[in-house]
Amino acid sequence: MEGTLPERAASVLRSDTRRSLCDDCLATLAEIKQRQTAHTIASSFGLTSDFVREKGPCSRCRATKTVTKAIRS
Ligand SMILES: [Zn+2]
Repeated sequence: MEGTLPERAASVLRSDTRRSLCDDCLATLAEIKQRQTAHTIASSFGLTSDFVREKGPCSRCRATKTVTKAIRS
């Protein structure tokens, strides 16, 4: 994967706007080695109008936790 970690995370989320991902799965899919880094990136996404952070089921691991999804691609 190319790009900065936030760019990679954003492109993973934007690739499917129906998909909600927890920080762990976002880290895996965006190839971010540190879960804490994924958490920081996803939290900052939640402050923008392009993404939503909410409690819900993760589309990948099915756990109910804080997930992030892109509102638009
Ligand atoms: Zn997950």
